[in-house]
Amino acid sequence: MNSTDSESIVNYKQGLLDQTFRDSVSTISKEGNRNYVNPQKPHGKLYNLRSYFSYFYLVLFFTLPFIKIEGEPVFLFNVLERKFIFFSKIFWPQDFFIFAIGLLTFIVFVILFTVAFGRIWCGWACPQTIFMEMVFRKIEYFIDGDATQQKKLKAMPWNTEKILKRGTKIIVFFLLSFLIANFFLGYIIGIDEVGVLIKEGIFVHFGTFSALVIFTLVFFFVYYWFREQACIIVCPYGRLQGVLLDRNSILVAYDYIRGEPRGKLDPSSNHGDCVNCHACVRVCPTGIDIRNGTQLECVNCTACIDACDEIMDHIDKPKGLIRYASENGIVNKQKTTYTWRLKLYTLVLTLLLSFLAILLITRADVAARILRTPGQTYQLLNKDKISNLYNIKLVNKTRKNIHLELKLENIEGEIKQVSPVDVPKESYFQTSFFITLKNEQLKARKTKIRIGVYENGKQMDELSVLFLGPSI
Ligand code: SF4
Ligand code: SF4
Repeated sequence: MNSTDSESIVNYKQGLLDQTFRDSVSTISKEGNRNYVNPQKPHGKLYNLRSYFSYFYLVLFFTLPFIKIEGEPVFLFNVLERKFIFFSKIFWPQDFFIFAIGLLTFIVFVILFTVAFGRIWCGWACPQTIFMEMVFRKIEYFIDGDATQQKKLKAMPWNTEKILKRGTKIIVFFLLSFLIANFFLGYIIGIDEVGVLIKEGIFVHFGTFSALVIFTLVFFFVYYWFREQACIIVCPYGRLQGVLLDRNSILVAYDYIRGEPRGKLDPSSNHGDCVNCHACVRVCPTGIDIRNGTQLECVNCTACIDACDEIMDHIDKPKGLIRYASENGIVNKQKTTYTWRLKLYTLVLTLLLSFLAILLITRADVAARILRTPGQTYQLLNKDKISNLYNIKLVNKTRKNIHLELKLENIEGEIKQVSPVDVPKESYFQTSFFITLKNEQLKARKTKIRIGVYENGKQMDELSVLFLGPSI
């Protein structure tokens, strides 16, 4: 088949696809009301695999705040106190450049990853999807039953069954939201602080309690009612898909070349493999029909792959009518392979992450800043010596108290400290010191000198300052 043939087949097959879906949003009715989605409970190989992944994430989410290294949590995002801990390393405002590079790496990572692998993140690792589909949705299936029972329950008058089920669901969802809010807050202020709130009561820690209530209400609102709207309307990542994806991006995709023209199973017809059973639509948590092509609403949850594979099994056709594939892969009937392009992207991502890792590992434990004391010039001592007064500010980023020494690196002279440089752990410290030089060492009014900051004989930092003397 030459390229013109294949192009005309694609055009023909694409012509068979109904395009009217573009005029509306699946979750908004013609009257402008919310179309509440009741997806059928998915099952299948990929759903099981996603469940196992999510159990792992959930265990991580609920245990990480309790894991401490040298008395500090592994992760902390305390924006209020500007204290951030990543993988047990404490970051201070002075480490902002690492944070900025980390952010940049993250953005590039997201872009390259999405260009290559589409929205795999959304389906397999996004906390919103994990909590919604793997926690709250499962509880909903348990209380209300599958999609058909849910719709029946909704249409029912407020009888005992409906009141009981709705009441149970609200209580369970609220308690779970409260639990998640506690842990979420634990990642911000530390789980110990949350424990203190519980122990000492809400009136002593009213601010923290208010944050807890707000988080609980937000989570409850999102998981009880807002649901897929968070992905469709709020999430900026979903909105970016239109500009990030291309014909080689691997996505959950319907093979329209194989599936169209769709129609009832009839060996005598020239229908494609899609039997128009709508199983893929019924399981979709965002209420879309993947056969319409890539859509902003698709969170790549793979529920439609499992559903369609089951149908293909029943009708004795090969699985994979809906599968992870790129548009080019579908048109050229190629299997999804790890192409050179993907290898290149992976290499760039690896390099970026390695660069960030090096920055993190080599980050200095002590940051120092020396400034000449304002309003002071120089002091003449015994006619043959001159001294200057300096202020030093230090940040100890480690978890131990440290004693530091200051040494002149490029010139003979004397440093006289006003007080010992003992910097408490995770703290700022400030003191003053004099540098005294002999007159003959000065060759100009300003002399550049370097000062080393040492701990146990190991240089932690080196700084340059200017030493002032009389005009020569
Ligand atoms: S589940 Fe498969 S066969 Fe059924 S409508 Fe969807 S794509 Fe077609
Ligand atoms: S189209 Fe398929 S992969 Fe996309 S959200 Fe719906 S069920 Fe999930």
